[in-house]
Amino acid sequence: MPNERPSVVWLRDDLRLADNPALDAAVARGGPVVVVYLLDEVSRGIRPLGGAVKWWLHHSLASLGADIAARGGTLTLRRGDAATEIARIVAETDAAAVFWNRRYGRARDIDAALKSSLREAGVEAQSFRANLLFEPWTVTTQEGNPYRVFTQFWKTCLEQGVARDPLDAPDSIRPFDVRSDDLGDWGLLPTKPDWAGGLREHCRPGEDNAHERLEGFVDEVLESYNRRDEPGFEATSGLSPHLRFGEISPLQIWHRLHGALGAGAKANAAGFLREVGWREFNWNILYHFPELHERNYRSAFDAFPWADTPEWEIDAWRHGTTGVPLVDAGMRELWETGTMHNRVRMVTASFLIKNLLVDWRVGEAWFWDTLVDADEANNPANWQWVAGSGADAAPYFRVFNPVLQAQKFDKHGRYIRRWVPELEAGEYPLEPIVDLAQSRRDALAAYDTMKAST
Ligand code: FAD
Repeated sequence: MPNERPSVVWLRDDLRLADNPALDAAVARGGPVVVVYLLDEVSRGIRPLGGAVKWWLHHSLASLGADIAARGGTLTLRRGDAATEIARIVAETDAAAVFWNRRYGRARDIDAALKSSLREAGVEAQSFRANLLFEPWTVTTQEGNPYRVFTQFWKTCLEQGVARDPLDAPDSIRPFDVRSDDLGDWGLLPTKPDWAGGLREHCRPGEDNAHERLEGFVDEVLESYNRRDEPGFEATSGLSPHLRFGEISPLQIWHRLHGALGAGAKANAAGFLREVGWREFNWNILYHFPELHERNYRSAFDAFPWADTPEWEIDAWRHGTTGVPLVDAGMRELWETGTMHNRVRMVTASFLIKNLLVDWRVGEAWFWDTLVDADEANNPANWQWVAGSGADAAPYFRVFNPVLQAQKFDKHGRYIRRWVPELEAGEYPLEPIVDLAQSRRDALAAYDTMKAST
């Protein structure tokens, strides 16, 4: 006798059909499947999404909806606070089970409470590991504490190994008729003004595009990954927004990188996976320290004497008019494309924090709004890494010099000229808004003040 009461699959940052354990469990259970995406901007512990991420989310959901429809199912869209809305869907559909893939920030309190209340009501509720290679509570020091140092963390992960193979996408999904919002009514796309022209040109959201990117990267780019620090050269994968939305899983990437590779690619595979390891590390930090975007991981930094930097200087940073070419190139790339090369993220963040002495949270908030890959672990963890206040962070006294960084990593000025075309004509017409050498000394003095007060 087939099981006719439906299962609900509650999707979050796992907008994919393949290697999706929650969806797999629902299909395996038999019966119709209510696949739900819930736009929750109101529950406690949910950080409101930034503009660029909303743009990506819209397109990712559109693509997922089409992929589900191609398998006979439907994607149900709802909006509201998760606890109420999921309970309502269960009641409307008389669902017998609810499945989801785990999240690791503050939102996990919502999930834990919901799991208990569903079970109390006699509804099966199960969560799965899907978006990390290693569950944070399984990677600890011998004393059972979280790692604060990446190298040790990643060593333990590699020793542990990855347990299972990625799951296939289901061939078909049995639909269940239930009310759904219209994606267009959610207002995720900017209208007045429509600033997303650059994103439309540079970004290709969706599960198929994620896999195409991985394949293209493995075939053509990975062999040059040892040049990943050069922003003018395409040497990295561009997978971060796809990982952000779970259009591809780290497990799928892991397995592809352990599959057939050319010799050049093979030589760089471990180095690439190590970066994926940083993503794991940052989520591990968030799991243990969910207030990562609000508070210094190292509380000594609470006493840091940030300067009273005028707003126009911060705006010059945001809009790429500081007069420092590499910083301006990076900030313009970010605005235009929704992404920025990792090396330049470090340089622009360091400039804001150390040369302008602005609290890292101000920069983190700007990146949160403008990056298509902004996520609640990697963005604040990296900002705190640059600030020196994070786990296994760069020491505060290491101040990136944007001029030397450009000489070293953008030797022929390819990257800078692309984003700051004024430079083609020779001299940069903008004067630097700060003196790099003096502001560096001021930053080190501020650091000494902090140390003396703690
Ligand atoms: P690749 O070099 O191809 O790396 C593969 C994957 O490894 C990436 O997709 C990403 O998932 C992971 N990865 C690589 N570098 C890092 C890193 N330093 N920390 C964590 N994971 C990493 N990354 C985000 O995904 N979201 C963010 O919000 C984010 N904010 C950042 C803010 C600052 C100030 C800095 C310095 C870095 C930030 N990063 C963030 C990390 C990094 O810059 C991006 O992950 C990387 O540039 C994405 O490009 P890629 O996919 O081509 O990387």
